[in-house]
Amino acid sequence: MAKLKFPHYHTFDGMTAYLKGVQQDHPKLASLSSMGKSHEGRDLWVMTLTNTETGPDSEKPAYWIDANIHAGEVTGGATALWTIDHLVRHYGKKNADGREVTALLDSFALYIAPRLSPDGVEAFLTTPRQVRSSLRRYPFEDEREGLHPGDIDGDGRILQMRVPDPKGPWVASKKDARLLRRRTFADNEGDFYQLYPEGLIKDFDGYTVKPAPPQYGLDLNRNFPFEWAPEGQQAGAGPFPTSEPETRALAQFFVMHPNINGVQSYHTYGGVLLRPYSGKPDDAMPTHDLRVFRQIGQRGTEITGYPHTSVYHGFRYDPKQTLHGGLFDWLYDSLGIFAFANELWDVVSEAGIGQEKDGLLTRDFIEWGREHPEEDDLKLLKFNDKHDLGGFEKWRKFQHPQLGEVEIGGWDYKRFWGVAPAKFLPGIAEKHARFTLAHAGASPRLNWKQVDVQPQGGGLYRIVAVLENTGFLPTYTSAKAQERKAVPPPFG
Ligand SMILES: [Zn+2]
Repeated sequence: MAKLKFPHYHTFDGMTAYLKGVQQDHPKLASLSSMGKSHEGRDLWVMTLTNTETGPDSEKPAYWIDANIHAGEVTGGATALWTIDHLVRHYGKKNADGREVTALLDSFALYIAPRLSPDGVEAFLTTPRQVRSSLRRYPFEDEREGLHPGDIDGDGRILQMRVPDPKGPWVASKKDARLLRRRTFADNEGDFYQLYPEGLIKDFDGYTVKPAPPQYGLDLNRNFPFEWAPEGQQAGAGPFPTSEPETRALAQFFVMHPNINGVQSYHTYGGVLLRPYSGKPDDAMPTHDLRVFRQIGQRGTEITGYPHTSVYHGFRYDPKQTLHGGLFDWLYDSLGIFAFANELWDVVSEAGIGQEKDGLLTRDFIEWGREHPEEDDLKLLKFNDKHDLGGFEKWRKFQHPQLGEVEIGGWDYKRFWGVAPAKFLPGIAEKHARFTLAHAGASPRLNWKQVDVQPQGGGLYRIVAVLENTGFLPTYTSAKAQERKAVPPPFG
């Protein structure tokens, strides 16, 4: 029997072996296919789950789950695998989970793609590197001048370097000597520092330290057709919409599966349930669809404890800028699908930081990242120490080949912020899978209410058939789908 190792972050081979094992163990329920190959030639796996004895997946309303379009967001990939395990383990069982899972797989199909950027995930899991998305060099073939992050002291991690400098924008905290806080206009004297990512400087002029533009700057989640914008306007966009093998395969899969009416894309981190639009306010959406999005989001908040918001209203990196070419905007606006993206794991709220609102701990997610009080950093350190998470490394002296004596240490962003520690992963996976399956259960449910066959004589029959929808969503899914003519008659 294929047993899911959990909590665990699987390399590609480990994940592939598990997925093949599930297919082998559950031939009636699970079928594994590859929707294409990544830039480096890895399969883009999709697990189709449905009870094939009640009909093939293509004849049922369907729900899609994906993860790791962003390479480092492996908490999402682990949650997608946990969901597969939960479904095949509970199908046919008599307990509450069993009844829910059985009803879902008898009436609907689920497509689960646990790793949309397998090349990037592999580099993330097996090297000290941070990778945004794909491993295709973009927008430059060559290495540009500037500081390139790298593990220069050979401890297997890329941390931070601090260098004493009277004009430095960081100052040592008086409350915890490990911490640096941003210098304010009132700080005229103190121990000031420059703070850089650990790494080496290409074409160093002996003075200037500036970050090099990323060599792997593609963001597959900016490469979709809806309001796509070129690199100068949207970093990571790629040369044209669906230019990359990973995004092209995904787009084709959706076009070939018009039965999909709901989507969950797992991301990390932030502790929030996101939905369209990224670039327009809520009142640009048909009222019907906004109400549905809010109802599903509210259910998600109840189950996961994370607030729900559109990207435009709650998660914009820059209030004067909007995001282009995102997956869920394309899925909703062009195909009429109710798509969510959950930002799993949030070390900030876990550490007790935020304002209480309607029983939830919340904050201005993006603004907090830019600026927050020193007390919040102290809380984070305390949380790290309490759970022994290894998220902050003591500063230690290092002879840098270009900068002379520096200290290496500080936050381990990759480990502490970006990835749920193993002890937190089971709780996250379970809550989010429960929300996702509740969303999947909102699909239309079609039943033949009545079929009358009356012989008319001469081999002629009059057939009256009444089909009813006992599900939550209408057969046309959304007002947007109707507007876009995305669902064919008789259901659209
Ligand atoms: Zn992401």
